[in-house]
Amino acid sequence: MSFEDLGVDKRIASQLSHIGITTPTDIQQQAVPVAIAGHDLLAQSKTGSGKTFAFLLPAITRLSKQKALSKRDPRALIITPTRELANQVYKQLTLIIAGTGLKATKIVGGDNYNDQVKALAKDPQFVVATPGRLVDHLDDRNFYLEGLELLILDEADRVLELGFKEQIEKINTAANHRLRQTLFFSATLEHAEVDALSRNLLKNPKRVTIDASTQEHNDITQKFFLADHLDHKIALLIAATKSAESGQQIVFTATRDDTVKLSEILEQEGYKTLALSGDMNQSKRNSIMDAFSRGQAQILVTTDVASRGLDLLNVSQVINFDLPKQAEEYVHRIGRTGRAGFKGNALSLVSAKDWQSFKAIESYLSKRIGFSEVNGLVGKFKGFKEKTHQPKQNVKTKSVNQKTNKHKKPFKKPNKAKTAKAIPAPFDVDGVAPLKRRPKKDEE
Ligand code: AMP
Repeated sequence: MSFEDLGVDKRIASQLSHIGITTPTDIQQQAVPVAIAGHDLLAQSKTGSGKTFAFLLPAITRLSKQKALSKRDPRALIITPTRELANQVYKQLTLIIAGTGLKATKIVGGDNYNDQVKALAKDPQFVVATPGRLVDHLDDRNFYLEGLELLILDEADRVLELGFKEQIEKINTAANHRLRQTLFFSATLEHAEVDALSRNLLKNPKRVTIDASTQEHNDITQKFFLADHLDHKIALLIAATKSAESGQQIVFTATRDDTVKLSEILEQEGYKTLALSGDMNQSKRNSIMDAFSRGQAQILVTTDVASRGLDLLNVSQVINFDLPKQAEEYVHRIGRTGRAGFKGNALSLVSAKDWQSFKAIESYLSKRIGFSEVNGLVGKFKGFKEKTHQPKQNVKTKSVNQKTNKHKKPFKKPNKAKTAKAIPAPFDVDGVAPLKRRPKKDEE
């Protein structure tokens, strides 16, 4: 099957073949014709499976073939949760629209506001944006969305998790007309919040699900290792990085301080590393991602700012130095490897502090996860025993001391989890970033 068979414009298909893309992936085969037919769409497919082109191709096809509703307003708006992802989508978009006469601009926090005002004044047909900065421009009436034909949310669930619901609703209101088509994409769309938003924004959407997010990713080998304490984790981390045969590696950790500390430790081991976190200014973030994607470092140590969408084909191994609190973030983190048909490894370190997150991942993936061991680095921590839940006793069946007619105090088993020896916390006692937080201006 070719892209043209799916209804993709001929010139765009030939542009794709110039970059070596000739056969549509599963998500592209399913989603592209539905979107080209004009339906609203909720599309879910595993990480690295070609989702970006699955929404870009119908958008470019629509804009090349159909007459614009408005000559001045953007015709397609693509919203991403992070600036890094916006950069990546923008790059792919500009590559494909070169020579079509269509214009695109990128509107993200951290870039110069006045330059963005000028770019918007040039009436680009495509806008790729993070929600916060886009709404600033909307509020300042630097552009209007009345003529918007396509609204696309990439990593829609993450956009909501980062607290951008209000901004998305504002965008929806500004572009609320019957001809608008709306597409939501992610590897993890099974969220009550996404459902609620999609009911509000999408009209009779079609659903395309290639793989449930919980389904095992065949191209990624996943292993988990138990760790006693910080030094043990570091020893395991070093052993894990050395076990990789080739390619680049990404180490995920909870806080910006940890990214710096771990990157220094790995530098001492002889690796060229880069540390990335959401608090850095945008040009620093861009230059780090640029350097990493050009292969100028072997290891990127980062927070979840790099967990979504980023397409780095040379990453052969992802290491979770600590586990994310939200189980679906695990799926996205490990999805930085095993992309576009390549194989990858995902190794996760689990200490007492990660136990709750580990159990959440087990329950999200609906499977029992076993642990692997590294020779010479087997620790004492074996996980916590699960609490066995006794059915709540009915008042009538409470044991009553016949002689005194008083309720007996039930015998309480000591709780192993509570009596377990305290384990030194990895760098930051607060651990992983809170589940839901207000977006920091520089994190969107
Ligand atoms: P994505 O899931 O959109 O980030 O894409 C993951 C990787 O797959 C990117 O490097 C894309 O360039 C690549 N890709 C997307 N579609 C195809 C295709 N049809 N054939 C080969 N590679 C593709």
